[in-house]
Amino acid sequence: MLLEVNNITKKYDDIDVLHDVSFTLKPGVYGLLGSNGSGKTTLFRIICGLIKQNTGTVVYNHDDVQTNPDAFRSVLGFLPQDFSYYPDFTGMKFMLYIAALKGINKSFARKRCLVLLKLVGLEDVCNKKIKKYSGGMKQRLGIAQAMINDPEVLILDEPTVGLDPKERVRFRNLISSFSENKIVILSTHIVSDIEYIADEIIVLNKGKLEDRGVPSELVNTINGSVWEVLVEANKLDHMLAEHVISNQKHSVNGTVLRIISKTKPTHNAHPVQPTLEDLYLYYFREDAVK
Ligand code: ADP
Repeated sequence: MLLEVNNITKKYDDIDVLHDVSFTLKPGVYGLLGSNGSGKTTLFRIICGLIKQNTGTVVYNHDDVQTNPDAFRSVLGFLPQDFSYYPDFTGMKFMLYIAALKGINKSFARKRCLVLLKLVGLEDVCNKKIKKYSGGMKQRLGIAQAMINDPEVLILDEPTVGLDPKERVRFRNLISSFSENKIVILSTHIVSDIEYIADEIIVLNKGKLEDRGVPSELVNTINGSVWEVLVEANKLDHMLAEHVISNQKHSVNGTVLRIISKTKPTHNAHPVQPTLEDLYLYYFREDAVK
């Protein structure tokens, strides 16, 4: 099982939205991390064959997916960001509808839908209309439909949007139990969502592959670029305006700022152990200071 993304470039109005993006994925859970507008959705749509790239190829198990799109689609599950539901359908009817679109035979479809609705915790409401579902319930239904054909490759575009903390935990467990011997790619700009479940993180920044690695390795690359400084009240505004701040904590002696900076920001700054949250700010600092 091997998914290869080779030198993908995509232009809109002559602007490179994706620039020469290449990576190879074997079974595992991958977090595609990038700020809004970095090209995550565009890349997913290209992998899923919904839009065409300008250059490059997507290859699954050594076959170009565009040469035989039906074969790839049969092993692909996709939760798009702008997933549309039919509000008057019940959860079950919707799942059966998706199963029919995927060509799953009727008698098997019902069993499969039940298993999945149970897995995402919607069995009790599966006969209720979707318009009565909360945002998180709709999102879980979206995840269930993406898994209907027991896909080898599961692509989830911002799957945790609208989930409350309890649902986020459920989601993580769901992905862990599902991901064995599968390629799961999920995009997010919420670091904590992938911190626990992603085997590897792929960082996409302004359409370019910025970095890739296991979370702890990536975090180590910014050792020495995260600082804590105690700042007096009269200097606080200046410091906040001048630096990329990952956290601020008030104390009786002043404010402790956590600063992302390649150089020592003040004489009294001391280096601290970076986190994935810091790494995100390190990569996307321009968005952070805006
Ligand atoms: P992300 O999913 O990381 O937020 P997108 O892939 O949605 O990023 O968008 C990347 C960039 O491409 C953005 O600047 C967006 O405005 C632009 N873009 C996306 N789709 C289109 C389109 N159909 N036409 C023109 N520009 C687009």
